[in-house]
Amino acid sequence: MSRNQELFTRALDSIPGGVNSPVRAFGSVGGTPRFIQRANGPYFWDADGKRYIDYIGSWGPMIVGHAHPAVIEAVQRVLGDGFSFGAPTEAEIEIAEEIRKLVPSIEQVRMVSSGTEATMSALRLARGFTRRDRIVKFEGCYHGHADSLLVKAGSGLLTFGNPTSAGVPADTAHHTTVLEYNNVEQLDEAFAAFGDEIAAVIVEPVAGNMNLVRGTTAFLQALRERCTQHGAVLIFDEVMCGFRVALGGAQALYGITPDLTCLGKVIGGGMPAAAFGGRRDIMAQISPLGPVYQAGTLSGNPVAVAAGLATLKLIQAPGFHARLGEQTAKLATALTDAAREAGVTFNAASVGGMFGMYFAAHAPQRFSDIQAAGTPLFNAFFHHMLDAGVYFAPSAFEAGFVSSQHDDAVIDATAHAARAAFAALAEG
Ligand code: PMP
Repeated sequence: MSRNQELFTRALDSIPGGVNSPVRAFGSVGGTPRFIQRANGPYFWDADGKRYIDYIGSWGPMIVGHAHPAVIEAVQRVLGDGFSFGAPTEAEIEIAEEIRKLVPSIEQVRMVSSGTEATMSALRLARGFTRRDRIVKFEGCYHGHADSLLVKAGSGLLTFGNPTSAGVPADTAHHTTVLEYNNVEQLDEAFAAFGDEIAAVIVEPVAGNMNLVRGTTAFLQALRERCTQHGAVLIFDEVMCGFRVALGGAQALYGITPDLTCLGKVIGGGMPAAAFGGRRDIMAQISPLGPVYQAGTLSGNPVAVAAGLATLKLIQAPGFHARLGEQTAKLATALTDAAREAGVTFNAASVGGMFGMYFAAHAPQRFSDIQAAGTPLFNAFFHHMLDAGVYFAPSAFEAGFVSSQHDDAVIDATAHAARAAFAALAEG
């Protein structure tokens, strides 16, 4: 038995499914999850000592690569001074100022510890600000696991949303309307029908939780216009795409300004930190200034803030995002070429440091396109690559992530493995 198998068997006894977050269990691709021992730059090593090129980067945070010396040093510098005080620190002002500088639509920002907390708090804030209850989200976007967001569409536009998880009260789900991503007509119908009831529209402007799907400019502009016309709060969930598709996030890439933004992942540099922020008049509604309650024992934790600040400094190096985007595009092209050589229907796409892989002829526009693409082929490809020492997200419904440490040699090694993997798929 491999050490990974031993650990998984042991984990299953004490931890539900053996993991602390479901996708880690390899449920959709099958096989034994790899237990990671250490990581450096673009690589991590599992419990059997096998090295992998890592294309999940902790699902986004590790944009400067694992164990970056500058981030380690920043964390070590604060560790000796204590881990958490429950009282304000100067570093919290620094990270707030840094976030405002990088994402100018954020006039005020509050730190939390996870993306789920950020979106949950932003929604409560939007509801408190507008004094409305209904929220709109889009099929295939993931915004964490708050009750209001674990919802799928009812049978028609005007029917109530239904829970996607046991334990979510139907009454809560009823306040959420779920529409198709990139579908402006449906959006217009919804606003025409109940625009004045909508507290907030929440969207991943570049979606990374149904594989990678870009929001179209027309769609995101329509969101902005309808929200403004109807007094709804537009929330960009940039937990994943923030600081990754561009230094200023998707809102800089598209030139579209949301009212509130949720951030996470990169701003913690791999430590538990996230944030939500935006218009000053809206943020003024939060406790202790206003009536919307929100709080956190570990919010703005000094160790997490040190890692986040160091990471935010590193990504401001001249040309950082241009190079990250180039490397990611190189990877997407190399994968697409390798599939074409083998005669496998496949394409890959990238936006900044995020990429998607599709066993389909064209890049997808919406969740149903991803569902239509071949999951069995993806699963076989995933395992060929894993055997060859390349770790992609263990699900056809996730995006991939590249770090600044994924240099040409790493991309070439990936392309080499991919040629063999696609050839094996073509043989069947
Ligand atoms: N929003 C988006 C866009 C995300 O990708 C995620 C996590 N993948 C979340 C929110 C939730 O973040 P967390 O897992 O830190 O709660």
